Amino acid sequence: MGVLDLSEYSARLLYVTFAEVTLGLIFFFIFRHFGLLYRRRFLLTWALSWLAYATFMSTSGFVSVFLLETTSMFRDSLSIVAQVACFLQIILILRGTYELIYEKAFSKRKFRIIFLLTFVFGLFSVIAFGQAGPFSRYLVSFGSRAIITGIGFLVAGMVVWTNRKFSKGFGQQLLSSSLILFSIYQLYDFTIRLLNILGTRVVPLNLMVGAVDLLLISLMGMSMVMWFLEDERENLNKENKELDSFLSNTSHDLRTPIASILGLTYLGKLELQEEKARTFMNMIEERIKKLDLVIGDILSLSRSKKIDLKIEELDFAKLLDETMADIRFNKGVSAIQLEYQADLGHVFKSDYNQMKIILINLMSNAVKYHNLNQPNPYIRVSFKRIKSVVEIAIQDNGQGISRDSLPKIFDMFYRASSTTEGTGLGLYIVQEALSKIKGIILVDSDLGKGSTFKIVLDDA
Ligand code: ADP
Repeated sequence: MGVLDLSEYSARLLYVTFAEVTLGLIFFFIFRHFGLLYRRRFLLTWALSWLAYATFMSTSGFVSVFLLETTSMFRDSLSIVAQVACFLQIILILRGTYELIYEKAFSKRKFRIIFLLTFVFGLFSVIAFGQAGPFSRYLVSFGSRAIITGIGFLVAGMVVWTNRKFSKGFGQQLLSSSLILFSIYQLYDFTIRLLNILGTRVVPLNLMVGAVDLLLISLMGMSMVMWFLEDERENLNKENKELDSFLSNTSHDLRTPIASILGLTYLGKLELQEEKARTFMNMIEERIKKLDLVIGDILSLSRSKKIDLKIEELDFAKLLDETMADIRFNKGVSAIQLEYQADLGHVFKSDYNQMKIILINLMSNAVKYHNLNQPNPYIRVSFKRIKSVVEIAIQDNGQGISRDSLPKIFDMFYRASSTTEGTGLGLYIVQEALSKIKGIILVDSDLGKGSTFKIVLDDA
């Protein structure tokens, strides 16, 4: 067998077909992987549509490049596979889109009937008209393919465009545009070829040898991925919101019975004479207070998430005064010296509520973890501005934090020592609040000597 002598057109068609098949297989694997990972049916259906596309391109490309002038059973079989795969591709795109929009499986029975009809039609169009004259052969074989997929892509494009379930992200818009463009291209191509067969000479668009198909198909695959990611993000946001409101409602509802239990324990202690019973009552009271603390922290976390940001000019000295007023009844506050040099220049732009949450938590920690058995317990607060960056430092000469614990103190529910009365949520809440106002927190600490927490903010 000699070296294949492909005309320039066929050689270019071969390259483009190769690129299209590769692209189809890449998208098949991407959607299959996403489908298995996210357990979403529509992704697996879309994956199959790309497999059908790769099958269609490889078989029809093989026929066009190598078997165009021949007649054989092999050629007919490949043509049938190409025809059926091409129809399957659009049926699967439509089915996947249906599954994404309605979030339920498409009836298997209906799909089987559609597949059977497609198969019979593909078989019929190739066998019955494969050898017929150019007109009927083209019209039934290639023409029906272009018409049916053209209409199919148009329907898919309209469905993607018009459904109201999604917030029309860029991916969704791009997908519907590329589906509609592809359909217009198919129908246009069909009309031009038909005109040529009927005798009117019009130069067909396929002069660009599939480059337009390649471009539109790439756009389609890419935008499917984008739409899926947009949809996942929307779902995630919805779930997050539901979780937040569940958290805030539950913790809110739990507070009432806890307050009654605390009241009843107090009354119980007054009534009980026996020492042992009173000890138990005291223990119950302590545990309930701890529970109340945890629930209070969870409530303030979900509140801080809910409140909308309002950036305004804040006076740091005033903010610190208000913070100290809020924690004035905390154990040990009066024994600690607060050192802060107020200055008129200590103003910056940020969100009042988030700043309050941050300061209350940091200041009450500095008090809670202080060491009062020393001559000069202090908390030193400083405000510094470096260009548009504001640095607020809170330094104490309290208990300090060990090297091992330092990287973990911002984790949810982490407490550096089990004897502390905290919930382990305070610094987590601080970090959440800071992420909302685009700030960061740095910590430096020496066990037994003290800690410095520094927050760095962009003066918005
Ligand atoms: P908690 O509610 O337990 O105070 P936080 O998240 O606020 O939780 O703090 C986590 C841990 O970090 C605390 O348990 C404490 O051991 C340590 N910590 C936080 N601030 C200080 C501080 N200023 N001095 C010493 N230890 C601190």
